[in-house]
Amino acid sequence: MEKLQDEFNLSYLFIAHDLSIVRHISDRVGVMYLGKMAEIGTDEQIYDHPTHPYTQALLSAVPVPDPDAREGRERIILTGDVPSPANPPSGCRFRTRCWKAQDKCAEELPLLAVPERFAGSDSLAAHESACHFAEEKDVVGAA
Ligand code: SF4
Repeated sequence: MEKLQDEFNLSYLFIAHDLSIVRHISDRVGVMYLGKMAEIGTDEQIYDHPTHPYTQALLSAVPVPDPDAREGRERIILTGDVPSPANPPSGCRFRTRCWKAQDKCAEELPLLAVPERFAGSDSLAAHESACHFAEEKDVVGAA
């Protein structure tokens, strides 16, 4: 696929669950939850500076071959089931499984935007995230 991309200057829309493969092949990455975009950025922004709790949980589950990196790692275990897309939760769709959820999350749909706290900054955390309380979290050993 990479050879064809170089040869014919192609763009791919690559949809997968394996985050290692996604990083290998993608320049820009979008993370979806229950049919809505949760976070979008370059591969470096998403994998090394994720700000949405769902992305952080996904990355924390990626296997890490290096035992030293694995040691300091925080695995985020999500509880509960994925709600039905036919009857999604009010506000943020991820709120029923999010450890950071507050009242605002049930009342107000978070828009996909660069969080105000990062706006205008050079930080790699300054990318679009659909979370009222987006912030960086070190997900050690992310793919
Ligand atoms: S908006 Fe609230 S529930 Fe949704 S991801 Fe952010 S903190 Fe969690």
